[in-house]
Amino acid sequence: MSFEAGQVYACSNCGAEIQVTRSADAGMAADMNPMCACGQEMNSQGASAQGANPQRQSQGPMA
Ligand SMILES: [Zn+2]
Repeated sequence: MSFEAGQVYACSNCGAEIQVTRSADAGMAADMNPMCACGQEMNSQGASAQGANPQRQSQGPMA
């Protein structure tokens, strides 16, 4: 999986959130999640509610 514009990543440790503002070039993206400033790996929360991407991910245990 690579970064896509509109995607939101959240830290389950401190609650910080980041949003991808630009998609990664194909081939450049490593298959890994971003790291929070607190040291915890951040998990994808899917696209933001701003409607940048209608796709929804049903991935992850978070409710
Ligand atoms: Zn954090």
